[in-house]
Amino acid sequence: MEVVCLDLEGVLIPEIWIEFAEATGISALKATTRDIPDYHELMGLRLGLLKQHNLRLADIQAVIAEMCPLEGALNFLDELRESYQVVILSDTFYEFASPFMKQLKWPTLFCHRLKVSPAGEVEGYLLRQPDPKRESVKAFHQLNFKVFAAGDSYNDTTMLAEADAGFLFRAPDNVIKAFPQFPVTDDYAELRNMIDAAPAA
Ligand SMILES: [Mg+2]
Repeated sequence: MEVVCLDLEGVLIPEIWIEFAEATGISALKATTRDIPDYHELMGLRLGLLKQHNLRLADIQAVIAEMCPLEGALNFLDELRESYQVVILSDTFYEFASPFMKQLKWPTLFCHRLKVSPAGEVEGYLLRQPDPKRESVKAFHQLNFKVFAAGDSYNDTTMLAEADAGFLFRAPDNVIKAFPQFPVTDDYAELRNMIDAAPAA
């Protein structure tokens, strides 16, 4: 029995912080896990910029409300879920993800929560656990599942390494070069073929 673990941003939906950076014109908010491998450093930068520009959770949610999943993502996910159990492992926050999950027909999502003040200021974040993507794959192994995984960034690589088969999907060149052991594709149909061809249990 197999579980497919998918990253969310860059794989099924656009990068939320990049869209928000474009909407606000704050280019420093464009940094993602693709650019800054250390998640706490990256989030520290983001929270500092939000505070500096007096931006609140509602401002980010207003941008998210206008966003859609990547073209072909829903069809890929729908067809994948016919043949596999699928869990989305993301370093985003439930406060951001809900509109996308609705559009993707509510797949299972493991991510994090934001700490928000009564006035709606984003004050911090609560990670479910350290190295959550890798720990989730380990837990599925303990439950006797074989795990296939796909992601696009540094924060996916421990998940890909822990999985029985891991794939880079639409990854930038710096990630591909740093992790040459993972097969690479930019195409949903090809990713599906790679998953199907991975050795089954
Ligand atoms: Mg990603």
